Amino acid sequence: MKFEYAPAPESRAIVDIKSSYGLFVGGEFVDPVDGHRFKTVNPATEEVLAEVSAAGPRDVDAAVQAARGAYTRTWQRMRGAERAKYLYRIARIMQERARELAVLESIDNGKPIRESRDVDVPLAAAHFFYYAGWADKLGYALSGREPRPLGVAGQVIPWNFPLLMLAWKVAPALAAGNTVVLKPAETTPLSALLFAEICQQADLPPGVVNIITGAGDTGRALVEHDGVDKVAFTGSTEVGKQIARSVAGSGKKVTLELGGKAANVVFDDAPIDQAVEGIVDGIFFNQGHVCCAGSRLLVQESVAEDVLSRLKYRLTTLRVGDPLDKNTDVGAINSAAQLERIRELSAVGEAEGAQRWSPPCELPERGYWFPPTVFTGVSQAHRIAREEIFGPVLSVLTFRTPAEAVDKANNSPYGLSAGVWTDKGSRILWMAQRLRAGVVWANTFNRFDPGSPFGGYQESGYGREGGRHGLEAYLQ
Ligand code: NAD
Repeated sequence: MKFEYAPAPESRAIVDIKSSYGLFVGGEFVDPVDGHRFKTVNPATEEVLAEVSAAGPRDVDAAVQAARGAYTRTWQRMRGAERAKYLYRIARIMQERARELAVLESIDNGKPIRESRDVDVPLAAAHFFYYAGWADKLGYALSGREPRPLGVAGQVIPWNFPLLMLAWKVAPALAAGNTVVLKPAETTPLSALLFAEICQQADLPPGVVNIITGAGDTGRALVEHDGVDKVAFTGSTEVGKQIARSVAGSGKKVTLELGGKAANVVFDDAPIDQAVEGIVDGIFFNQGHVCCAGSRLLVQESVAEDVLSRLKYRLTTLRVGDPLDKNTDVGAINSAAQLERIRELSAVGEAEGAQRWSPPCELPERGYWFPPTVFTGVSQAHRIAREEIFGPVLSVLTFRTPAEAVDKANNSPYGLSAGVWTDKGSRILWMAQRLRAGVVWANTFNRFDPGSPFGGYQESGYGREGGRHGLEAYLQ
């Protein structure tokens, strides 16, 4: 049954959103020289939150110069143990300001406060703590070598985990002795701008971290800038391919973290209630705006009916609505454009003959919303089984044998993550050896730790973030 809860809204009074923001270059907020201004909105209400600067080519150049100056003058020369102190300081300030960061992230992104408070912000701080620990031990990160930093890193991130993606990029880069210019996504710039304030508060030497806001043009100018030695991109496969082409032959080191269409495989001996929780977490966490989301459920035929009926029942208990309410499970879709894409692909699913189901749920009138949705009767040829929807939409397929599960799971141009649910340890290992995915979760899903590497195969990109592997990408 669905329990009735009184509203439990988190107060937004803790956040001080300014009416307009400059670019964070050389340790200060500056007005753009050849850029323009754009607005960022709260996707749950369509309220305009602030005006933000879009960096033009000269602004990008100024940020890269600032990063270069800081690299040569201070950061590269500083002892690792000294750099570590700054990273620890940043991590601690993030913890101290955790509530503020979480509320701001939920307002700008639309994700439930429960998630930003319990997952995004603590994990982001954990990445700084983790990489702070490596800063004076780089000689042990790559065995038998004398690691050196690369120089200036140009980093471009998406909107689904704005602060967490920033942490994945900035923490290892700084620990390894690089300086950075980071561009957050155009729909979610605010937590990166608050992070810029945190860098000031931590007395980070000016120019070590530069944050430039803007859309694709700004990102392109950054990754193509001659003064950038390393490009780190997280985003769509389409843009990732463009970037790979544009930096080919430039000598820049590149990591690409791109899209996914993960298979979540449930065998008949799995603990079904636990698996249902994992399926829900796999696709409805963060409104399905998750590159490693378990968007393709592969369920063994003999238990398909049971799994589906329990899954549907569980979905009727999900609360969709105000991201700042502590009871909310599923928040708003991040933008009108993303909502349109989810609607379009879901309509294609129906047109191609799959059966669409959503629990009864009332969606708010304003803002961008999409109900949790399950498609059954999906075949491998359907677009909803092949393309990344990046929303709260699950495609369900069935299989009979383990070999068939592997074939179906691997029948994808992507290869970022996968899940396996079974009582047998030997089957977990058998599956993990055969699934072509960067991460394979067993009897769990969407688990992250700063110490463990993350990244993809095939069209999901190349390079790893997290753990010791994540450091390698920032060292030569
Ligand atoms: P996107 O590729 O449109 O945008 C990502 C970022 O790139 C944004 O900051 C955007 O402004 C910038 N950008 C756009 N065009 C650019 C260009 N030509 N050159 C340089 N930068 C450019 O992706 P999105 O829609 O914001 O994000 C969703 C995608 O990100 C999904 O496909 C998802 O799977 C992927 N993603 C992957 C991971 C991962 O770790 N593999 C993590 C999160 C999201």
